[in-house]
Parts: sequence; structure tokens; C-alpha cells
Amino acid sequence: MTHNLLFLPGDGIGPEVMREARRVLEWLGAKRGLKLTITEMLIGGASIDMHGVPLTDAVIAAAQNADVVFLGAVGGPKWAGVAHDKRPEAGLLGIRKALDLFANLRPAVIFDALLDASSLKPDIVRGLDIMIVRELVGGVYFGQPRGIEILPDGQKRGYNTQTYSTHEIQRVARVAFELARARRKALCSVDKANVMESSIVWRETVTELHQAEYADVTLSHMYVDNCAMQLCRAPKQFDVILTDNLFGDILSDEASMLTGSIGMLPSASLGAEINGKRAALYEPIHGSAPDIAGKGIANPLAAILCVEMWLRTSRRDLAAADLLAKAVAQVLQNGARTADIATSGQKALTTQEVGDAVLKALEN
Ligand code: NAD
Repeated sequence: MTHNLLFLPGDGIGPEVMREARRVLEWLGAKRGLKLTITEMLIGGASIDMHGVPLTDAVIAAAQNADVVFLGAVGGPKWAGVAHDKRPEAGLLGIRKALDLFANLRPAVIFDALLDASSLKPDIVRGLDIMIVRELVGGVYFGQPRGIEILPDGQKRGYNTQTYSTHEIQRVARVAFELARARRKALCSVDKANVMESSIVWRETVTELHQAEYADVTLSHMYVDNCAMQLCRAPKQFDVILTDNLFGDILSDEASMLTGSIGMLPSASLGAEINGKRAALYEPIHGSAPDIAGKGIANPLAAILCVEMWLRTSRRDLAAADLLAKAVAQVLQNGARTADIATSGQKALTTQEVGDAVLKALEN
């Protein structure tokens, strides 16, 4: 089977780090028989410069036809003046929406070699391996009504609506249960059911789904304020965390800091499974990093680990995923690092040199 990959490198360091991810994919094609065709197109600011819009219909069509989309990053000061709905970031939201990518997966994994880079003590994060599943296209960020109104006394009133229906919760919960089943079989659903009705529906729906289809997975529930605390106190108690759009936005950023550098973390956004195929977009969690763009010093490991996450999550090719994870761990262990994770006194390598080191580790 040939996999059709759509590459959307985007802006800033996006193209720089995606080049290294592409080399890893090409290595997998040449050395492990993975059959790939890679198409590259524009998104974000690069698309604005060429086509006047951050996301074209042609890219949406190509994404809908592709087996998987790999995205670098979008945005930068060059496009600071464009209208809100035409800004580079609108391209990213547009493609998520077009593919109905409702489940966002963010792993927080720490490599032993980077223990010192975490903001927590090594003992608390050693061996950390959490997966946060965030609902991505519903909840308070999209709920209606929303707006800003002027009250009779001249004050302003801003309002948003948090809503979740059974179907929206079930589909993202299924993704989380399936992941937990393939991991350590523990799912913690995070909500605010002591205060919010939408969370009561969330908790009931997850509990019913658990009883009906996933009784082999251990399910627990936690209030979001407690979860925020537990992530700093004892993060290793978690396997998979399932939560809504707003809580997931905050908790996944908190969890990413446990692992040290933003340049290390991949993410996946998944859609519904239709005829055995699930729409999937993989991207590093970092942005376009305008401050270092063009210098060739960005850390390419988040982009390379997107390939690993794709192999593990969409392809279920665990042997290839493990091989790549091991290669990255070895590169870090050998001290082949970009400036963001280099320790003092260590020579920082370029983006390409780290890519070279990963390819060499794969060969070995
Ligand atoms: P950022 O993630 O781009 O950068 C934050 C800091 O981390 C910077 O100092 C940067 O140099 C550093 N950094 C990020 N990735 C790195 C890497 N791979 N290696 C080494 N250092 C790295 O976030 P920001 O500065 O808030 O945003 C910059 C632009 O990116 C903005 O236009 C923003 O809207 C956009 N953005 C895009 C995405 C996306 O495309 N998914 C995500 C976040 C931000």
C-alpha cells in the first residue's frame, strides 16, 4: 500500500524542521520498504504571499484526499497587518475544520537525557509518558451564542457558551479509550462536573461508554483544578487524560513544560474513521519561531517525532515507531542537540546536523 502524504511546511522554521522530517520518511521508504508519495503545498503566510489567502481550496482538496497531513507551523510578523480572518493562523483553523479533526492528541514524554531540562525535579518526571486527548472542535471556543454587547448602563458584557452533546463526547472519548487500551489501560476523564452542566453530561457520557464498550480500561474522573495540581505534584499517575477543548488547551501546555522544550513535542489531530481510514494531521506543538527562523538552528526533533507518532497512532507500525524513538533517544544521549536543549559547555548543532544524527542512529 502506498501512503499519500501531504506536506504543508508553512512559515518561519516550519520548512526548516519539516525538511528533516521528510528525510526521515525518505529513509523509512528506502530502508524499510514504506511506500510513500509526498506532495508539498503552501499554507499560512506562504500561501498568502502566493495566493492571497492562508488556505486554498486546492490544499483542502489535497488534504481530504491524502492519507495523512504533516504541517510545520504558520505565522510571523510579516503578516501581522492582515485582516483577522485572513491571517496565517486562520489557515490552520480552516484545515482542522475542513477535515473535522475533533481529537487532539498531545503526548508528554520525557527523554532520560533531558531530565535536567524539565521544570520539575528529575524524580518526579523520570519515565513520564502521558497522552492528553483534547476535544478540538466544540465547547466554549465554538459554542453559540457568543459576543460582546453594550448594557443599558453603558457597561460591556462579553459572553461565550459551553455546550457538549452526547455524540461530540462519545467520539472523542472513543479515541481516548482506544489509546488507553493500547497503552497502560488507564483513562482519567477531566471535567468540572461539580459546577458545570456541560461537565455533568460529559461525565455521564464517558461513564456510560466505559460500561458499554471499554470495561477492560480503568476509568477515573478528576476535576480540572485538581488535575492541574496533580500534573505538577505527581504526573506519572496518569496514562491517558481525556478532556474538553478549554481544559485541554490549558492542561496540555502545562504538561508540555514538564518535558523541557517546546522543540521536542509532536501532536496529532484526528477525525472520524470512515471506511477504515481516519483523517489525521500531525504537527509539532511549537509555532514558526520568527526569532530564530532562517538561521538553521531550530530543533527538528518535534517534527521528526511527528513521523514517529504517525507510525504509532495511524499506521500502527510499532516496530518502525520504536526504532525511530530509539534513534532520537540515542541522539539526545550522545549530546547531538540544538541550542534550545544543549547543556552549558555543549556545542549546539544545526537543524540539519541533528537530522543527520537521527539518520545515522537509524542506520546503526
Ligand atoms: P513559538 O512556538 O513559535 O516560539 C516560542 C519560543 O520557542 C521562541 O523563542 C522560539 O524560538 C522557541 N522555539 C519554538 N520552536 C522551536 C524549535 N523547534 N527549536 C528551538 N526553539 C524553538 O511561539 P510564538 O513565538 O508565540 O509564535 C510565533 C508565531 O507562530 C506566531 O505567529 C504564532 O501565531 C505562530 N504559532 C503557530 C502555531 C502553529 O502553527 N501550530 C503554534 C503556535 C504559534
